Amino acid sequence: MDQGGQMIAKDLQSGVEQLGEMIATSSAIVPFTGAGISTESGIPDFRSPGGLWTRNRPIPFDEFVASQEARDESWRRRFNMEATFAAARPGRGHRALAALYKAGKVPGVITQNIDNLHQASGIAGDDVIELHGNTTYARCLGCDTRYDLVWAKAQFDTTGRAPVCDACAQPVKTATISFGQSMPEDEMRRATELAQACDLFVVIGSSLVVWPAAGMPLLAKNAGARLVIVNREPTEQDDDADLVIRHDIGDTLGPFVGN
Ligand code: NAD
Repeated sequence: MDQGGQMIAKDLQSGVEQLGEMIATSSAIVPFTGAGISTESGIPDFRSPGGLWTRNRPIPFDEFVASQEARDESWRRRFNMEATFAAARPGRGHRALAALYKAGKVPGVITQNIDNLHQASGIAGDDVIELHGNTTYARCLGCDTRYDLVWAKAQFDTTGRAPVCDACAQPVKTATISFGQSMPEDEMRRATELAQACDLFVVIGSSLVVWPAAGMPLLAKNAGARLVIVNREPTEQDDDADLVIRHDIGDTLGPFVGN
C-alpha cells in the first residue's frame, strides 16, 4: 500500500482474490475496456510491441475527409484486417463481463473498442457504450446511411477506390471515431452517467492515453467509486487506483467467467 491508498496486487492469485472481494461487495460495476481485452481474441492492440501503432500511423479524420488517397488507404487497411476481425471470438475477459452483466452486477460496459466483441459475448447492444464507434459496419459522412462491409468491399473491388454513398455520393467511412473526429455526444453522456453512478469502476486493457475517454476513471473515482486497473503495463492513472493488477486479462478475469 502506498501513501495514496493504492495497492498493486503482489501476484495473480492475490489480485484475483482482491478483485473477487470488491466485485462481491459492489452492486453497480462499470467495466471500461480497451484494446487489451481483445488481444486474446487475436486482434492486436495499438501500443504493445508489434501493435497496430507501430505498423501504421493512424489516419486523422481531416485527412480522411480531404484526401482520396487517405480514404483509399484507410479502406485498404480495413479490408486487410477483415479476416482478423471476422474470426475474432470473445475471450475470457469479454465472457467474464458478460457473466457479471447477466448476474445483474454490471449495468453497462463502456468500451473504446470497435470490434463488437462485447455484443458477441451476450451483452445487449444498448448496454455497450462505444466511445470510439464500431468497425464492423460503415456510415456515409454526408447523410449517415448505414452500409455493411460486404457492400463497401464490392464498391472497392469494382472502382479500386474508397466507397461513396449510393444516396448522396459523399465518402463512406467505417463507423469508428478517428483522431480529430468529434466524440459521439449521446455515448459520452451515457458513459459519464454510468461512471458517476457506479460503486466499482474497472479499467481493463487500456493504456489510458486516448482522451477524452481516459477521463472516465477519474470521473468515477471523484464520484465515490472504487477504481481497479487491470493492465499488464503501468498506466498514468495507477496512482489513483484502489487496486492495480499487472497481469494477463484472460488469467485475471477467467475465474469470473462461471459456467
Ligand atoms: P492501447 O493499445 O493503447 O493499450 C492497450 C493496453 O492493453 C496496453 O497497455 C497493453 O499493455 C495492455 N494489454 C494488451 N493485451 C493485454 C493482456 N492480454 N493482458 C493485460 N494487458 C494487456 O489500447 P487503448 O487504450 O484501447 O487505446 C487504443 C485505441 O485504439 C482505442 O481508442 C481503440 O478505439 C482503438 N483500438 C481498438 C481495438 C479493438 O477494438 N480491439 C484494437 C486496437 C486499437
